[in-house]
Amino acid sequence: MDYYSTQITKLIEELSKLPGVGSKSAQRLAFHIINMPQEQVEHLAGAITSAKANIRYCRECFTMTDQEVCPICSSSRRDHKTIMVVENTRDLAAYEKTGKYEGVYHVLHGAISPMLGIGPGDIRLKELMQRLQGDVQEVIIATNSSLEGETTAMYISKLVKPTGIRVSRIASGVPVGGDLEYIDEVTLLRALEGRVEL
Ligand code: ZN
Repeated sequence: MDYYSTQITKLIEELSKLPGVGSKSAQRLAFHIINMPQEQVEHLAGAITSAKANIRYCRECFTMTDQEVCPICSSSRRDHKTIMVVENTRDLAAYEKTGKYEGVYHVLHGAISPMLGIGPGDIRLKELMQRLQGDVQEVIIATNSSLEGETTAMYISKLVKPTGIRVSRIASGVPVGGDLEYIDEVTLLRALEGRVEL
């Protein structure tokens, strides 16, 4: 099975562990990397190591950032009374790309999934509830429209409602099971504007 040198095989193996990279893509990437100029390879390897070493979670919203508080949370131009709850940093980035959302975010880092054994205690829900003790007017739930996303949305709305803070859910129209990051900006904006109060 070892058609290539052990080193290349090792590289292919590591690359194929990445999500969405099958063995064919892993081979293509491995040969591409080997043919890249030395300097470029070092930049790539350095970027990976330094991202892993330096990225942390924002103290406020838990998005990935390289500062203690991310640029969104530290901006005085954002509306800190409106919190949009998303599953991950990629979803946050998708909404930021629309350039139209002025509130802040809360990143859960996952969704409740009884099937995968992920419970409310495994995502950043406790931290969300802590934030709601401050001056907050609205919580917009923008979890995915997958089963896990809907379960999480329902769970959050039950938690938030007794606090008297307005809770809304982004409009459907976002394809079922669709990862937010793959949805175009117009659809996202429409989902946000058409959000319904829970
Ligand atoms: Zn933040």
